[in-house]
Amino acid sequence: MQTKKYEYKKFDNIYAIRLIKDSEIIHSLKEFCEENKITAGIIQGIGALNSLTLGYFNSATKEYKEKTIQGSIEMTSLMGNISIKDSQTYLHCHVTASNDDYNTIGGHLISATISLTGEIFITALDGKISRYLDNETGLNLFKF
Ligand code: FE
Repeated sequence: MQTKKYEYKKFDNIYAIRLIKDSEIIHSLKEFCEENKITAGIIQGIGALNSLTLGYFNSATKEYKEKTIQGSIEMTSLMGNISIKDSQTYLHCHVTASNDDYNTIGGHLISATISLTGEIFITALDGKISRYLDNETGLNLFKF
């Protein structure tokens, strides 16, 4: 049985979303965007995590170096955007997070699991933003 990952309320073009315990952020928000037909938008959020995988993009190798941390993690800031690549929902999110020493780490968000709650706002834009793989940078860039 598919477990429920979020609850939400809509205010004009802004959605207030509560991600439920044990949900993975990227997977859940992708599903949310698909269900609500959001093809361009802004993501902002805070929450509590028990696992976080960050990426650091190495511009020389054009690959993400990954780092995973576990434990009681405060997601102090999540920001990102929503677009479409190859007809699929594409989320680009960055995150900062802290633990019990109050120091923060940050980077490109690969994945994160909610431990208690995630409070996310999505502003849906009227229209679509596309992306393409740019060979020079190795990144999926906006295409207008
Ligand atoms: Fe990034």
